Amino acid sequence: MKSKKSLSEIKTQIQKASNCVIIPHKNPDGDALGSCLALNHFLLNTGLNSVVISPNEYPIFLEWMPGEKDILNYQLEYDKSNAKIQNADLIFTLDFNDLSRAGEICEKIRNAKGIKIMIDHHENPKNYANIILSEPKTSSTCEIVFNLINYINSNGFNSDIASCLYAGIMTDTGSFRYPSTTSKTHQIISDLIKKGANGSEIHESIYDTFSYNRLKLLGIALKNIEKINSLPYIIITLTQKELDDCRYKKGDTEGFVNYGLNIKGISLSIILIENKSENIVKMSFRSKGSFSVNIFAEKYFNGGGHNNAAGGISKDSLVKTKKRLIKLLKSKN
Ligand code: 5GP
Ligand code: MN
Repeated sequence: MKSKKSLSEIKTQIQKASNCVIIPHKNPDGDALGSCLALNHFLLNTGLNSVVISPNEYPIFLEWMPGEKDILNYQLEYDKSNAKIQNADLIFTLDFNDLSRAGEICEKIRNAKGIKIMIDHHENPKNYANIILSEPKTSSTCEIVFNLINYINSNGFNSDIASCLYAGIMTDTGSFRYPSTTSKTHQIISDLIKKGANGSEIHESIYDTFSYNRLKLLGIALKNIEKINSLPYIIITLTQKELDDCRYKKGDTEGFVNYGLNIKGISLSIILIENKSENIVKMSFRSKGSFSVNIFAEKYFNGGGHNNAAGGISKDSLVKTKKRLIKLLKSKN
């Protein structure tokens, strides 16, 4: 019901608007970038001025996405991006629900005059937007954007939009295997294929484009895998030196955390990645079943996400972070 009202409000605003910006969360993933680009193609085809502004750079394996070349990188095109944000009638924020997740752009969005529209699937949305389209049970922001475009104009899809949405749904569902994948998700995927998405090509573009160094880094991560004594939990670590030795590039560690859950009986996998330039340890959490990693990440590591997939950060050293983490996990049980 709530979504229906938001859909109609968004449609009305799009009909009145001229200039739009669309912003994904910092370190955008396939769902964030796919949903932004799909919406951008739709708005451009509808005759609006629209641009995607990414808070920072994104992984190389997303660079094939149609429309990717026109994305503004906020860190590299600061003045141009700010002018677009200032001038926008509509500011879409996609795949996040807490403004701080947009990084440095956060204040610029908050102070801009345009109507803010949140489209997202994380739990507990914050209250910064004028219109909130929030569906925590839906697999991906791309699935929500599919429904939005379908609602506004069911003939408004083309192969570019279909490819972007397919990519985001595929990545956020772990290639259609996580419990958030429903028959409706498969129905939408079927529609997207009919509209021109080539699933096999998209799969290859995202998953079979490792550099040699990235595969070496995966080897190191798997070598560093540790099971916590007497608990069905896995911790993986990567030091800055290990990253440097493999000439780490943004996105290279994407998906590594999932390997912990490949082990029979393991219900929680965590990767700790040292980042010496920001003086933090970036953490990713993945679980099966009832361990709510978003609550754990939010409570102890300034993070959040979904029930079975979340992220966070630690300002302690890698060694100290790991010790604290193990202590917390042992006391939880
Ligand atoms: P990943 O581990 O792939 O970086 O992120 C998994 C999920 O957690 C994604 O839905 C992502 O948006 C969310 N997430 C990752 N890092 C953070 C963080 O630092 N804060 C919050 N609130 N969510 C995060
Ligand atoms: Mn998402």
